[in-house]
Amino acid sequence: MLVDKDSCTGCSACFSVCPTRAIKMSQDEEGFWHPIINMDKCISCGRCERACPLLHNVETREVREVYACYSMVNSIRLDSSSGGIFSVLSEQILHQGGIVFGAAFEEEYRVVRHIGVEDAEGISKLCGSKYVQSDMSSVFAAIQKYLSERRYVLFVGTPCQVAGLRNVVKKNIEYLLAVEFVCHGVPSPAVWSSFLQEIASDNTAIQGLKFRDKSLGWRKYTMKIFFEDGEIYRSNVEENLYLQGFLSGLYMRPSCYKCSFRKKKRVGDLMLGDCWGIERMSEDQSFLTDQGVSLLSIQSDLGEHFWKKIKSRLHIEKISYMQAMKYNRAIISDSYHHPRRSIFFKQFAKKTYPTSQIIADELDLNIKERLHRRLWAICELVKNWCIRNSV
Ligand SMILES: Cc1cc2nc3c(=O)[nH]c(=O)nc-3n(C[C@H](O)[C@H](O)[C@H](O)COP(=O)(O)OP(=O)(O)OC[C@H]3O[C@@H](n4cnc5c(N)ncnc54)[C@H](O)[C@@H]3O)c2cc1C
Ligand code: SF4
Ligand code: SF4
Ligand code: SF4
Repeated sequence: MLVDKDSCTGCSACFSVCPTRAIKMSQDEEGFWHPIINMDKCISCGRCERACPLLHNVETREVREVYACYSMVNSIRLDSSSGGIFSVLSEQILHQGGIVFGAAFEEEYRVVRHIGVEDAEGISKLCGSKYVQSDMSSVFAAIQKYLSERRYVLFVGTPCQVAGLRNVVKKNIEYLLAVEFVCHGVPSPAVWSSFLQEIASDNTAIQGLKFRDKSLGWRKYTMKIFFEDGEIYRSNVEENLYLQGFLSGLYMRPSCYKCSFRKKKRVGDLMLGDCWGIERMSEDQSFLTDQGVSLLSIQSDLGEHFWKKIKSRLHIEKISYMQAMKYNRAIISDSYHHPRRSIFFKQFAKKTYPTSQIIADELDLNIKERLHRRLWAICELVKNWCIRNSV
């Protein structure tokens, strides 16, 4: 192990630089990827340590400007999780001959993996948040190859993935537009795969899946699955146990409970997120239609360059970073460490009950646990206030 297991984010940067292939990314009992080093193959070159963003900090950047915005093309806005800024940025990169890397579903929607795409059809595979940890182990070499050809590369991922990538890419970095999103944390790929299998077992193949379908509105997290036989599964956060477990921190990666990257200063060129609290920050009625509003922050010259290229295609309003952090706690606050997390994973490993039943059982907090959650929320509010007001 390079770093302790609970801190490792599974970004795969160490794996990607090992010259002797001594490192393997392997799934642990909870379903999260961790690097395993085969000491027989290791030549002690130290490259993995230099690539690891926990051992070798990437330079962080001040947030320069923050905007509330959305795409003026309604279909783009409705297909995306927030305001559709990812798709607009992607169009721009493709227009300039570049390539886009992001997370797509694979293996009948049970796995989420980073891939590179070069056309509109590819962009539609990346569009939309997938609330599962994405495997990005196979994209580092491809990204470096495109950069060596001096083609623009747009990479979108969690802040820890962006940090790992920035530590690995050393040449032609001026062509890499690294976009982080505001990150609540990533759930276990094994829990997702098992949950999906339960929903899909009696049906035909899946044709499409959205974690953030907007037919009930942007604010109402709704999972929608389209089956080949025309059946549709739709369940919003009030009834969907997977989304409830995700938002309650029941099966997050351990590193997400004490994240090294949810800080006031950031690692990407741009940051995207949901512009929660927009109704309190703006009087512009067009933001209130519940079709999705993005938060976008500019954090580098390259980020600013691309912002200038796309902003005429967006409806925008400048907002303050202080306000953005106040209403979108995930910018700087940690995920809640659910008190039943370890019991959940013990039950999950036994496989005696369906995953959805285990989630339902463990989400139900007793009075002491509810009090614990409330105290945690108060402490986070105070911590968040202190960070926001620190210089
Ligand atoms: C696990 C996760 C947690 C998030 N938590 C928050 C939060 O707490 N607060 C908040 O404001 N926003 C959060 N977001 C971001 C938000 O959901 C939107 O993805 C973001 O605002 C971009 O929206 P968009 O409309 O511009 O584009 P969209 O079309 O929604 O773009 C999605 C982009 O994210 C990438 N992506 C999707 N899933 C993953 C994944 N699992 N791993 C890596 N990359 C992925 C896609 O490749 C694509 O580039 C989270 C996203 C994810 C995936
Ligand atoms: S020290 Fe070098 S050879 Fe050994 S695991 Fe790390 S990168 Fe691979
Ligand atoms: S580089 Fe990433 S995957 Fe490797 S040890 Fe560090 S955090 Fe874990
Ligand atoms: S919360 Fe932190 S450690 Fe977890 S996925 Fe997001 S950036 Fe990575």
